[in-house]
Amino acid sequence: MFRMFRRRARVEREFREAQRVGRAMLAMHAELPVPDFPGPASGGAAAAEPEDEVVPDFLPSGFRAPSRQDVSGFMMRWDQPLVIDEEVRECPTCGAYRHWVVFNMRDGSVWLRCRAGHETHEPRLDTAWYNRNSGPADHFHPTVEDGLRHLGH
Ligand SMILES: [Zn+2]
Repeated sequence: MFRMFRRRARVEREFREAQRVGRAMLAMHAELPVPDFPGPASGGAAAAEPEDEVVPDFLPSGFRAPSRQDVSGFMMRWDQPLVIDEEVRECPTCGAYRHWVVFNMRDGSVWLRCRAGHETHEPRLDTAWYNRNSGPADHFHPTVEDGLRHLGH
């Protein structure tokens, strides 16, 4: 039992630290363009949205789509179980294993946010993984909350 307690205490500490970092992240990083989740949308809400990504050609010459240097990070929906190293990733707080929002921050770190809003750093994933698994960023969101709403969270 002692070992188990020790382990729980460690997990709890890690979680509190992740929460602290996550809160700081949400406070610091206000803009996130959001690539739409490439798989089938669970609610159908994404499919019903107007297709407004056509770029008119009368934009000022200085205009360009936000690149990685311009934004604080990217986010996408990840509804299916997330398997890392042949292991299904679970939320350390509530045990959820589906319906993630995956963040890829400008520093290259990848964060997972479960449906209940728990955020954890996933050190085994990085920008290369994110780019392989995300579609092109087609929405720009002024706040993380706006992005989460867009993703149905
Ligand atoms: Zn959770």
